Amino acid sequence: MKILVLNCGSSSIKYQLFDMPAAVVLAKGLIERIGESTSAATQTTDGGELKLERGIGSHTEGMELVSEMLTHPDQGALQSMDEIAACGHRVVHGGERFTGSVLIDASLESVLEEYSDLAPLHNPPNLTGIHEAKKLLPEIPQVGCFDTAFHQTIPQVAYLYALPYSLYEKHKVRRYGFHGTSHKYVTLRAAELLGKPVESVNIITCHLGNGCSMTAVKNGKSVDTSMGLTPLEGLVMGTRTGDFDPAILFYLVRKGYSMDDLDRMVNKQSGLIGISGVSNDLRDLQEKATGGNLRAQLALDIFAYRVKKYIGSYLAVLNGCNAVVFTGGIGENALIMRRRILSDMDSLGLRLDEGRNAATIGVEGEIQQSDSPIKILVIATNEELLIALETHSIARELEALKDTIKDEPEILVR
Ligand code: ADP
Repeated sequence: MKILVLNCGSSSIKYQLFDMPAAVVLAKGLIERIGESTSAATQTTDGGELKLERGIGSHTEGMELVSEMLTHPDQGALQSMDEIAACGHRVVHGGERFTGSVLIDASLESVLEEYSDLAPLHNPPNLTGIHEAKKLLPEIPQVGCFDTAFHQTIPQVAYLYALPYSLYEKHKVRRYGFHGTSHKYVTLRAAELLGKPVESVNIITCHLGNGCSMTAVKNGKSVDTSMGLTPLEGLVMGTRTGDFDPAILFYLVRKGYSMDDLDRMVNKQSGLIGISGVSNDLRDLQEKATGGNLRAQLALDIFAYRVKKYIGSYLAVLNGCNAVVFTGGIGENALIMRRRILSDMDSLGLRLDEGRNAATIGVEGEIQQSDSPIKILVIATNEELLIALETHSIARELEALKDTIKDEPEILVR
């Protein structure tokens, strides 16, 4: 069964075509700069790399180009788009309604539109992707996979802010958490590596990329996570502050900063780039720090300190755990950052093995000493694969239930 996975941004479409259940990637593509005069499209298949440059004015044209590339006579992966059995969509915000991946029908689309307020930069293009895929592939199931869904098991004590309760009732102000697809994928993989059923796995997952978040996973379920109503809260990120005193904003408003200035500042000009003044990219910062740049060094120190602090708090939340998992571009590759984070944590049960840490760059592995009470795992995340697996599962169930589900699509929740 061929499954197309789509991730639509405001000016881009990322896609992967999977052959399921073998989980073989048949094609991987990216269309960038939609809406600009020259857009770029690249696709990799067994037939090689296909690159096209042309003006792509809209997501409608972008999806037509996806179809053209997938069915390209030499470097395509399909004879016809009819071979695709289902389409899985990454959707950033599923609010409180979506606790798992779900078959999308017209009524659910309108619910999703409601959540656009909560993720104004992400949900509208994600929805556009769903509309366009429906136009292009009207006969097949469209499945929504939400960044927030894995975190819907977080208890109220962890998701509610100590603000007036009426804000939660009126405006749904609460912690939602993001990167759920990644945290869920590495949780499932960690269970395999630990040789335990996922229902008995207690771990702390650290997704460290440009955006960074951590999750406390108890019995295979998310019970707390560092991002909040928006992805701003929690860890220090490439350009976001993470946790800071919100009264700083009132202070700066009184100093004359506008809301737009502050929004831009905390989301785009803070974090690693804000502290260092040099770069939001960890590799650049490591290079600068080695060359003696003290602000680059400081940015790295503050980044590591925040992750360490969250590990400590989640160890308390979980009353200890089986493993700490590192994933994302930084988590999977940055051995110096892992060392910095895990330094002096041996009395908490985390003992890093320097040799194993140095040997585990961009590959999966265990990096703790043999006597470490808590394991330390490096796992490459694969959000597209999880979306493909859940879409495949819903599509198969849909086939089996074809006659009975007409009015109850939500029974197909993963
Ligand atoms: P995104 O959140 O955009 O998906 P990634 O997960 O790709 O981002 O992570 C990007 C971050 O990973 C960057 O800060 C980059 O410097 C860092 N990174 C990638 N490879 C390495 C490496 N080999 N060593 C150190 N940092 C790395």
